[in-house]
Amino acid sequence: MDAEDFSQIRDAVRQLVREVVIPREEEIDLDDRIPEELRGAIADMGLFGYALPEEYGGLGVTMREDVELAFEFGYTTPAFRSLFGTNNGIAGQVIAKFGSEEQKERYLPRLAAGELIGSFALTEAEAGSDPAGLRTTARRDGDHWVVSGTKRYITNAPLADIFVVFARTDPDERGGRGISSFVVDAKAPGVTLGPRDKKMGQSGAWTSEVFFDEVRVPADALVGEEGRGYSKALTVLSRGRLHIAAMCVGMAQRVLDESVAYAATAKQGGAPIGRFQLVQALIADMHTELIAGRALVRDVAARYDTGEDTSVGPSAAKLYCSEMVGRATDRAVQVHGGLGYLRTTPVERFYRDARLYRLYEGTSEVQRVIVGSGLLRAAGMPRG
Ligand SMILES: Cc1cc2nc3c(=O)[nH]c(=O)nc-3n(C[C@H](O)[C@H](O)[C@H](O)COP(=O)(O)OP(=O)(O)OC[C@H]3O[C@@H](n4cnc5c(N)ncnc54)[C@H](O)[C@@H]3O)c2cc1C
Repeated sequence: MDAEDFSQIRDAVRQLVREVVIPREEEIDLDDRIPEELRGAIADMGLFGYALPEEYGGLGVTMREDVELAFEFGYTTPAFRSLFGTNNGIAGQVIAKFGSEEQKERYLPRLAAGELIGSFALTEAEAGSDPAGLRTTARRDGDHWVVSGTKRYITNAPLADIFVVFARTDPDERGGRGISSFVVDAKAPGVTLGPRDKKMGQSGAWTSEVFFDEVRVPADALVGEEGRGYSKALTVLSRGRLHIAAMCVGMAQRVLDESVAYAATAKQGGAPIGRFQLVQALIADMHTELIAGRALVRDVAARYDTGEDTSVGPSAAKLYCSEMVGRATDRAVQVHGGLGYLRTTPVERFYRDARLYRLYEGTSEVQRVIVGSGLLRAAGMPRG
């Protein structure tokens, strides 16, 4: 896509976010759902497939373009992006990158059109930060695989039409080897869901447990090579981490804008609180860290596109930006005083929403381990 086409898409996304989604943020939070007509607008704009390949109906954005869109998505409730995030991200990318031609043709155009919702089912109890310890199994039975196990915290599970599921196919292998990935129809007999999780924030974005009880899937549901699913998951997560870093930048911009607008008008002692230099300091620190985060994300995205760094950079960006937006939302509440603690004030909602960014798609500790160990390995340190 040329630069002009992309800037038209970005402007349209900005307009949708600011004119349609933001006015309904509070409703989305209170009702814990994305209104149906918004889903239609998202589909019309092609957002269910913005990161899927153009030849399968997506917009095929580069990582540099992806982060520019995520800056816009991040400016409103994260539930907005969550609805189409798994199609473009972790679930759709596994099929786009590693699926057979037949799988791509079967799923990608419908994912890109928003006719199907795909969910990525990797995490289990005792296999979150270290998914290589997962216990879901898939055993071969004639021309089928039989999948059994329980996944938890799966985004969009209650809406999903298909799950990209990671399961151990070789019980004799340990760790990441011997794990494979499958596309499983959400309606297949034996697939059931737990109740929707009650979360601290990000209302309107749904997660739940997913149970696979002896689910029979055809042999061609296997994505890519048998036993290589884990390395696939890692590649896809790395792209997702950079995207989340950009979402954090978007949210930091929003809470900064809310804080500046509030400080410029809310008064104490007859003068706007923005006259107080300690309030200015809160705003200055938010702004400084925000522009550092944005520059970091853009730099890492450019190096992701050239293939120069697809692991350490995305983790460093996710680490910095998720921690940065935590500080930004905290300062934004501070600028708003008591109002910042009241429900229905946007910064109160963002304060809760932001907390997830330090946990999912790899905790901050996990990002530190990836960055630290990656640099040491590059310097020749032997693997432990
Ligand atoms: C709302 C939400 C949506 C999610 N969506 C999805 C989804 O769609 N698909 C999916 O598969 N998963 C999803 N997840 C799961 C998410 O990625 C995991 O929760 C996350 O990776 C952390 O794993 P855990 O919860 O098992 O915590 P744990 O791994 O048990 O972590 C607990 C603590 O131990 C620390 N820790 C663990 N290992 C190490 C280590 N090696 N070094 C240092 N510290 C360590 C962690 O940093 C953390 O502080 C979602 C989670 C949530 C909450």
